[in-house]
Amino acid sequence: MIIQGHILTDPSRPPMPGWIRLQDRRIAELNEGPPPADAMPPTSGGPHTLITPAFIDAHMHFPQIDSVGCDGLPLLEWLQTVIFPAETWWGQGGAHAMMRTAAHRLTRQGTGGVAAYLTSHADINHSVLSRLAGETNLRFITGRVGMDRNAPDALTATDLERARRRPIPSPMLAQPDGVPTDDHRRRISLNPRFAVSCTDELLAEFGWAAKDNPNCFIQTHLSESIPECDFIRELFPDDPHYTGVYDRFGLLHERTILAHCVHLTRPEWELINERRAIIAHCPQANTFLESGLFDLDAARDHDIRLALGTDLAAGADVAMPRVARAMIETAKARRLCAVGGKHIPTPPEAWNMITRGNADLLDWPDAGRIEVGAAADLLLLRIPETWYDEHLVGRLIYNWDAELIEKRIFDGVEA
Ligand SMILES: [Zn+2]
Repeated sequence: MIIQGHILTDPSRPPMPGWIRLQDRRIAELNEGPPPADAMPPTSGGPHTLITPAFIDAHMHFPQIDSVGCDGLPLLEWLQTVIFPAETWWGQGGAHAMMRTAAHRLTRQGTGGVAAYLTSHADINHSVLSRLAGETNLRFITGRVGMDRNAPDALTATDLERARRRPIPSPMLAQPDGVPTDDHRRRISLNPRFAVSCTDELLAEFGWAAKDNPNCFIQTHLSESIPECDFIRELFPDDPHYTGVYDRFGLLHERTILAHCVHLTRPEWELINERRAIIAHCPQANTFLESGLFDLDAARDHDIRLALGTDLAAGADVAMPRVARAMIETAKARRLCAVGGKHIPTPPEAWNMITRGNADLLDWPDAGRIEVGAAADLLLLRIPETWYDEHLVGRLIYNWDAELIEKRIFDGVEA
């Protein structure tokens, strides 16, 4: 397949007018100038098309796809009254339809890869994930959520039942049907929901599973809201801080994705840096639940490996350019409130985070970029000709709409 267009290989530089040849689901050639006469007309695109990598979302929840917009509640109450009922419904027959909706919405907004959570159910998640792998070309890192307290029985049942079967509990990880264990596009992760909903016993079990599977990503939430942090101090009075709880169980390493991290203390920033864990900044979610404004300056000062996520459904939007915009706005808000904002990310920096940056952190070195050898995970955008100036990427972020996407190509196939 030959695709012609302005190729956005580096968002800090003007896109290059040229063409790409795809072969075996990869970018085989990347050339400047018009396609050769024997390749005309190109299979896709044209002289005015903008070609960009598909987006990567570092944090979202598939089962919350229908729960956007239930406003007015802080985190812990929102979980109990909005999210846990939705996740219960997922296990009672809603899962397949909800996953179809999620896959459709991600694809529509140009997201080609996602680090996501399922629910705590076992069989239904295996079946839903097997179908997602069979029917779409989305990349995913996802896993069953572990939780054994502070939630409805329907959601703690799986882990409580597993605990009863000790010392030989059922495995933490269930590979989806038809997905080989070395399929780097589709990987199973360990997902202890957060320490509020996990006892010491369950966290220890996740720690053992992490030790047995060192290449496996771990996803959890950390220090999102102040009442949550207060509750953690009650639940774990002997730990020095919230981050220390996960560290005690061996859950912090370079493949750990910690969502939020809005209320960290200095020793926690230092520990996260020392372990090289990843923080998934979810700016829309933090505003929606009024959890707080993420301290981007502290993250930069501590050399944190920073990813960007929607955290749907606390984040309203699966569109990563809107999350990029929310990150910029959060930094500006902190500057306006005189509580930070030393560094305001530029649109090219933000665009880099939702493509190459997130892909690298999720160990997808062949995603989020347009270069020879990279996977053909691409978006073809139709934009006004007047946008081709030094503000191109800012225009994309602030005007973002799925309507801008003319074609989505995931794993070399039109999605
Ligand atoms: Zn989340």
